[in-house]
Amino acid sequence: MKKNLILLIIFIYACNTNKKMVKHPLDKSEVRTIVLENGLKVFLLSDPGFNMSAASVAVQVGSLDNPEDRQGLAHFLEHMLFLGTKKYPDVDEYSSYLRTNGGYSNAYTSSDLTNYQFQVLPDAFEGAVDRFSQFFTSPLFTEEYTSREVNAVNSEHQKNIMNDNWRQFRISGLFTKDGHPEQKFGTGNLETLGDIDREELLDFYNRYYSSNRMGLAMLSTHSLDDMESWAKKYFSNINNNNKDRNRYDSDYFEKKETFRLVQIDPIKDIRNLVMTFPLPGTRHLYASKPGRQFGFILGHEGPGSLLSYLKEKGWAISLSAGAGARSADHGSASVTVGLTQSGQENYKEVIKSTLDYVDLMKNSGHPKHVFDELKNMAELDEVYASKGEGMWRATQLANEVMMYPIEDAGRINYIYSNSDAKPYEDLLSHITADNMLTMLIAKGVKTDKIEHFYQAPYSYTEDGSIYEYLISSQKRPKLAIPEVNPFIPKNASVPKRELDLTVLPEEIKLNDGVKLYFGQDHEFLRPKGIISLKILFPKNIMSVKHRVYSRIYAACVNESLNELSYPAKLAGINFSIKEGYEGMYVDVNGYAESALKLYETILEHMVAFSITDTQFDAIKDKVVRDYENFSLSDAHQQTRELAPDLFYNVKYTWKESLPVAKNVTHESLKNYSKDLYKSTFLEAMVYGDFPKHVANDVVDLFVEKTKTSPIKKEEAFEIDYLKLSQPESIQYVEDLLVNNSCIFRNYFIGTDSPEIRATSLILSKALEQPFYTEMRTNQQLGYIVWSYSRNYDESYYLNFLIQSGVYPADELNRRVNDFLSDSPNILKDMDEETFQNLIDSAIEQLEKKPMSISERATKFKNYIFEHDGDFERDFNTIQALKTLKKERIESHLSEIISLEKRKMVNILTFADNHANKKQIKSSFSDLKAWKSAKVYK
Ligand SMILES: [Zn+2]
Repeated sequence: MKKNLILLIIFIYACNTNKKMVKHPLDKSEVRTIVLENGLKVFLLSDPGFNMSAASVAVQVGSLDNPEDRQGLAHFLEHMLFLGTKKYPDVDEYSSYLRTNGGYSNAYTSSDLTNYQFQVLPDAFEGAVDRFSQFFTSPLFTEEYTSREVNAVNSEHQKNIMNDNWRQFRISGLFTKDGHPEQKFGTGNLETLGDIDREELLDFYNRYYSSNRMGLAMLSTHSLDDMESWAKKYFSNINNNNKDRNRYDSDYFEKKETFRLVQIDPIKDIRNLVMTFPLPGTRHLYASKPGRQFGFILGHEGPGSLLSYLKEKGWAISLSAGAGARSADHGSASVTVGLTQSGQENYKEVIKSTLDYVDLMKNSGHPKHVFDELKNMAELDEVYASKGEGMWRATQLANEVMMYPIEDAGRINYIYSNSDAKPYEDLLSHITADNMLTMLIAKGVKTDKIEHFYQAPYSYTEDGSIYEYLISSQKRPKLAIPEVNPFIPKNASVPKRELDLTVLPEEIKLNDGVKLYFGQDHEFLRPKGIISLKILFPKNIMSVKHRVYSRIYAACVNESLNELSYPAKLAGINFSIKEGYEGMYVDVNGYAESALKLYETILEHMVAFSITDTQFDAIKDKVVRDYENFSLSDAHQQTRELAPDLFYNVKYTWKESLPVAKNVTHESLKNYSKDLYKSTFLEAMVYGDFPKHVANDVVDLFVEKTKTSPIKKEEAFEIDYLKLSQPESIQYVEDLLVNNSCIFRNYFIGTDSPEIRATSLILSKALEQPFYTEMRTNQQLGYIVWSYSRNYDESYYLNFLIQSGVYPADELNRRVNDFLSDSPNILKDMDEETFQNLIDSAIEQLEKKPMSISERATKFKNYIFEHDGDFERDFNTIQALKTLKKERIESHLSEIISLEKRKMVNILTFADNHANKKQIKSSFSDLKAWKSAKVYK
């Protein structure tokens, strides 16, 4: 099986080391790695296929390095680097420059590294690199912004306080050895950083921000020589203090012959069991990847897997397993099980089963076929997968060049050169009951302590008798190591087609009730493709019952398919079955070889899914909890979800859906699904490396399996959207149960036309940075500050959103009013060159080339099904952009926000702990009655 892979048509490209890089013939990228005189390691990647240029700097310092009495300092410093440098002192110079040139930036602080990244259009790359490089040579750390920005970090923490993942992460750190940096609080807040001054920032910066501890990646269409010269010009004067990397104690969790259990009472109604096994550093083992093998086997979902066993017992709904590094010196392996109610009651049995599976792994020895499959897939992916572009790719490359031997940077994920059993066996030797911390996160568990920074209730216990039980040996015959995967592509090769960028998908006329498009890929020449279906139902199907049932139905179909299809996913053929208001969506995406076979199997399960009552109960319970938990999700999510209440003619809230979900039975759902496909209209697209008959097969199989009768498109249910014909201000006010308030404002810009699309693009580009700078950086209203434009079908809107843990929604409303009343001046004061940059970046955004067959197919699908096959749509927007005048945009903005002419939907939500002092009310008392008097089209 593996030998066939040699048939690949491959091009061998020699880097400036003796390592071989395998490339697709269309891949014109070139790589160069260099080390500057100051020790900075640099990864350069030039690719004429990129839309965006990007750069990233990784620094070997993170939250583990925070001083004992300054928790959160590394993270705070990360924020401060954005707020002005000696050469570019303006607080938003860097961000404005990027936004004006079609780019943006971000940064993050993790355990042992901090990473900064940006992307921008190629013409502005050198200018962005110049501004960016100043972070690492001459940051200002002004007193003024030092004291202001602490509030942004505090808001960031407030956003996390009610998040169960953050709570769990924080509490798990408390149980490491005394004095180990894992015990520190990483984010920081006013309490830990409130009185910080400039000197402390400078001191930390000078100690750790040294060129020998950094990695730089630059990705662009520019030549390697150009990029090398910029790397030298802008990054050579970073100071090198030659300080070696920080060391961390790899033995950070005490071995103890007892069962250690941490119980956490969560915010949401979740049930998770997490078993963590501390490990020494694993990063240096990248050539053998023992962590990935461990996760592959223990996290497998096929027949004989631990998950299948736990599901059969009725204890689990999900399972994931893996191992990762926290630093070069330490890391951990972990297994997370999503429990059912019965699983929570039997959590000791779940742990025992897991350890029994690990025993099976230990006794079975190193499974060579698993290593080979991972290696085969990596080889295929290195040639055929889309590697992406932009700042996230840059981030990964900067981290790799900093952390790994420079000759292997750029392909760490693809290297499987060491098939020795030892690293795998060594890792397994740490997966023992005496090296385990278990966390049970579920409502109602016993707690007697409160974590300080999150105010999260938890408890810790040790139990010797459970430990004795866990280490007793027990064989479970149903557990098995995964077998050889039949889905691994055997004949993948470069398709023999002409390169041709003008080929468009074509409509294939078939019978009634079907709109089918087919296209062969002539752009990427990969052995991959997508089969994509949208199944629409008759208008009269729509009801709250249908909405809730279709959601549970989709989950049941996925469950029914899971064991069978899991190996396909591992072999690069993904699929999804999802429901929405307008129907069911089915996608099969990946290596084309087995795609049709998998598609047929999916249809069989859609028509008749097969799961046990226990599995059904677990799914229903999960859906019910998801509905209930929605009121505890982030304020901005809840607030944005209120918009469709007004904008859609049909929308069911979680409150309406919950009682229906509670009453679903396995039998009633079976009955529902029996008739589901009786009458349908099918929109389908088959695209990529398929012969034409596959497109017809896709439709024929659908009709054959579902025995559907066709309806006309006009007879199918589709959402209608609010049409505001007269100026109007609509206010929608709600109270939340969470600790943040939110404002979400929508202004109607106009009805779809090339000019309105162009206007809406430019308005959002012009206002994004000023809104952010004023509301977040200057006024410090909250961590989440967004503005953008979007459309509901034909109607275009300009949106502003702020989430705040400090200010109630009426105060946010006042601040947004103040900002907007002055906003036309932003355009008035803008110079022509900046305005032209906005236009150019909007044009480049529309001209952006997809990076994969799948992205290309999505774009075509959108033209075909959402815009009646108008392939010229973006071209027409570009023509309109070219004629836009600044004065025109300015007057358009003045008009759409003016008190007399605005058509505005303003949504205000108040945090649990914020009072609605002025008693602001919604514009309506009865939403249904209000909607019935409105026009929806
Ligand atoms: Zn942050």
